[in-house]
Amino acid sequence: MTRRLLILYTGGTLGMVPSPDGLVPGHQLDERLRTQLTHLPHPRRSALPEWHLEAIGTPIDSSSATPNDWLRLVTQIRDHAHDNDVTGIVVLHGTDTMAWCSAMLSVWLGDTCRCPVVVTGAQLPLEADGSDAAHNIELAMRYAAHPEAQGVMLAFGGRLLQGDAARKWYTEDHQGFETPNAPLLACWPINQRDDHPLPALHLLQPPNSDARRRVMKALHIAAAPLAVPETLPRLARIVLWPGIAATQVSAQLALADVAVLEVWGSGNLPDDTDLHQVLERAARQGKRLIAISQCPHGSTHIGVYAAGKALKDAGIIEGETLTPELASVLLLASSVQK
Ligand code: ASP
Repeated sequence: MTRRLLILYTGGTLGMVPSPDGLVPGHQLDERLRTQLTHLPHPRRSALPEWHLEAIGTPIDSSSATPNDWLRLVTQIRDHAHDNDVTGIVVLHGTDTMAWCSAMLSVWLGDTCRCPVVVTGAQLPLEADGSDAAHNIELAMRYAAHPEAQGVMLAFGGRLLQGDAARKWYTEDHQGFETPNAPLLACWPINQRDDHPLPALHLLQPPNSDARRRVMKALHIAAAPLAVPETLPRLARIVLWPGIAATQVSAQLALADVAVLEVWGSGNLPDDTDLHQVLERAARQGKRLIAISQCPHGSTHIGVYAAGKALKDAGIIEGETLTPELASVLLLASSVQK
């Protein structure tokens, strides 16, 4: 039996075509991708695994994607991961919410998914001059078929990133994404456009999701694979700003079951008793809250400053190095029954 990669196409710039209103998701990606891959130098073309592509519903601009779209993707991936002829899965996705998608897949599928999943996309459409699309897909295919690959990863701009730690970092740069608190998993320079034999693809580091595991434990989230729920909790993402009123935070919490609180530095809050009371009340009402830092690099260390004591007193979960995307996704997962 020939084992092959499954490519799931959800939409995004990578497959987009011009329209009078701007770029819109395009169709016939299978044919278009096969055409573009014929332009690769022969040794690289012949190093690509066998693949087949399936479009997931109507391709969309990922700025319209929601957690329910990613849960459908989880179901699709699980269905295919059991096919013995599928060696790995590549998800083609828009970059705007790709970090959300890869965080969601990481949490729901976990490291136990039988085949590796590599999410990718592009800053420019497949047929555009200087496009990064074919290169990113090539990269994702090579890693999805790599014998050491495991879990959910994001391939972009010549680099392989940990799926639950990635953030969209650049609106134009072909590098696209960063994992500010996790090392690169692998690197294959973007200028590999020549005919030389391919360098071996080395996985530099195994993925490390310790902070995610600690927060999952604090939230009583079962180890993946997680069930796909009928409904998800209402999520708020509350970003503090200097001068924010307690009533504003209270209004946002009133509409939410769970919330990510983006605080200062290593985990500090304004010295505002009203605000502290709002947070304590929310926690007493059973709302789950995670505090993360507004600094993209580094961990929270709640309690180092007295200014963080109110977070501790309210029993808010310390988000450590979690990205806002991952903290949000963990809160969405926190209501899933074991
Ligand atoms: N708006 C596009 C999307 O997220 C951007 C991209 O794919 O780069 O679908």
